Amino acid sequence: MNVLIHRGASEIGGTCIQLSTENTTLLLDLGLPLSNESNSIDVSNLKPDAVLISHPHQDHFGLIDLLAPDIPVYIGELGKRLIDATRVLLGKELHSNDFHHFQSWQPFRLGDFTVTPYLVDHSAVDAYGFLIEADGKRIFYSGDFRAHGRKAKLFDSMVGKPLKDIDLLFLEGTMIQRDNSEFPNESDVEKKIFETIRHQENISFLIFSSQNIDRVVSAYRACLHARKTLVIDIYTAWVLEQLKLVSDSTPNMEWDLVRVYSSHGHDEKLKEHPDFFGDFRKRVYKYRVTKEELTASSADFLYLGKMSSFKIIDLYRGAKPVNVIYSQWLGYLAVSNDNFYGAEAMASYRSDPQVHFVYAHTSGHATVEDLKAYAKAMNPKMLVPVHTEHGALFAQNFQNVTQITDGERFLL
Ligand SMILES: [Zn+2]
Repeated sequence: MNVLIHRGASEIGGTCIQLSTENTTLLLDLGLPLSNESNSIDVSNLKPDAVLISHPHQDHFGLIDLLAPDIPVYIGELGKRLIDATRVLLGKELHSNDFHHFQSWQPFRLGDFTVTPYLVDHSAVDAYGFLIEADGKRIFYSGDFRAHGRKAKLFDSMVGKPLKDIDLLFLEGTMIQRDNSEFPNESDVEKKIFETIRHQENISFLIFSSQNIDRVVSAYRACLHARKTLVIDIYTAWVLEQLKLVSDSTPNMEWDLVRVYSSHGHDEKLKEHPDFFGDFRKRVYKYRVTKEELTASSADFLYLGKMSSFKIIDLYRGAKPVNVIYSQWLGYLAVSNDNFYGAEAMASYRSDPQVHFVYAHTSGHATVEDLKAYAKAMNPKMLVPVHTEHGALFAQNFQNVTQITDGERFLL
């Protein structure tokens, strides 16, 4: 089997790995780079037979709109729904790719390949690793994963009953030089949120990535504990509706102490796309909270928003400081990149006397200790670093490491 990392051997994000047999070529992910200095890929020149998307984060699927529309793209159904919702609410066309869905732990054929998706614990829902078999070889692509989220048992079962005879493991190494010890898991994040909001005198904002469902759960539990009301935006409300597909234990707008704030822009999008949203606009009405209600008793609310929603924060900066609970990777605040709209405003809150800036985040990625346990259990003949800035440090932590560079081909 031929192996080629188009991109992602020595950076976090922009992942794209190619595997080919004599008759079939597959791509694992086709992501947008997070860094402006990344190598570019000429996607129009890639003619794979299929593309597998590990999870619905931009750094893994963000370039699929550059693919020829007849190339099949495989992704989890829920992940696809979340991507669609983002597009519709941003006023973008839906992707015109030829989408197909898979089920976790159900093998399927793609030409010469047999692919088996494995659901993993990550900060995105519907995230997978893939076992890929062809030409008598077994490759495992870890995708992005961790062992300390609310679905940690997926990691435990992977390590407890590991796959056997893996010839090559592509292992993500986001955390190789990063520390997760301040908030080792979601309960620690939940506790920090609770402590921040329990005696608040003004509204709190929690800034997070709205596909981070574990974080919604933590925020909701903190609200329940502190008797505050969780305010979600239309996007999050819609995402939580989609989650009913797979879980009945995730909060949604119908739950106690949850209200929905609908901006004018979002409401317009709901109106424009009744075909997409069905009766959601009508149903959401019951759970709405208005700007006036938020202002009248601001200390009762925890508002969940994205980095780009800083304008609403500015409305409440006044006599009493607002809490801004920054609940995602701090590194975004240091990156000057057009991809991170709102980062500049967010960074400025750190020294703003009208803002009580609080950090509360646990990583979406496995710690070095967890990566070691994973690699040891998988015991691959060859371990190739991906999704890392520190591939050179892999050999200190794992066995059988072969570091390859973007664009380097090799035969397995
Ligand atoms: Zn990633």
